[in-house]
Amino acid sequence: MNKVALITGASRGIGKQIAITLAKNGFDISLNCRKENDEVIKIKEEIESYNVSCLIVEGDVSNFEDSERITKETIEKFGKIDVLVNNAGITKDMLLLRMKEEDFKKVIDVNLCGTFNMSKNVSSYMMKARCGRIINLASVVGISGNAGQANYAASKAGIIGFTKSLAKELASRNILVNAVAPGFIRTDMTDVLKDETKEKILDQIPLRREGTAEDVANVVKFLASSDSSYVTGQVINIDGGMLM
Ligand code: NAP
Repeated sequence: MNKVALITGASRGIGKQIAITLAKNGFDISLNCRKENDEVIKIKEEIESYNVSCLIVEGDVSNFEDSERITKETIEKFGKIDVLVNNAGITKDMLLLRMKEEDFKKVIDVNLCGTFNMSKNVSSYMMKARCGRIINLASVVGISGNAGQANYAASKAGIIGFTKSLAKELASRNILVNAVAPGFIRTDMTDVLKDETKEKILDQIPLRREGTAEDVANVVKFLASSDSSYVTGQVINIDGGMLM
């Protein structure tokens, strides 16, 4: 029987690559997206080409009822969830003086509350199974802070505290909870940055290149595998040495 991974926000970017990488490694995939479209159907087809099953589950992780339903539909299809990857995330960058209350709340709602909603629903199944992995997408800016990203950095710092607390709560049930903290990864999220900003960030990266979604997915693969069975409550930076 294949292991089952539920990945949120897997319609593109890092989430899509995590889904494909885990599928290549024999996981059945529950692929969450906000809205199914042709691109998502292509991802499902690619996943199925690796001889595993794929379920597409629409839903907004910032909505608790949606999170309940995403979890339930996954359990109905596969009977279990071995790995939850809380990947869905957004940015609404702005200096504090100009940041609207709704822009602060929206980013916290999707990134941090979405991680809470999914973890709460999925962990109740994992607790009964007495095993599981929860892998949260934090960010280096949740550790270092970043001007113009007070909302995003706060959400990612929150995810780090949440990860460590959950790791302590769930360890006795053999559920391991870790986070990855990517640095500057090339996706739609970073494509919107000005060239000048990108150059400045690259100057701070000892490896002198932007990261790829594969760079992140490979570390998630490790955290989802039996190779990391003695690792919990950790935050692994994937940033080319940017933050050390
Ligand atoms: P991305 O290309 O913008 O993709 C974000 C994904 O999240 C999309 O699939 C999007 O779905 C989904 N999503 C957004 N809001 C959602 C919601 N409410 N419910 C369900 N899904 C939702 O971003 P990315 O670069 O791949 O980032 C993935 C994760 O890595 C995020 O948590 C991000 O904060 C983190 N991260 C990224 C970087 C980076 O440099 N790229 C660095 C550090 C951390 P739609 O297609 O429907 O919009």
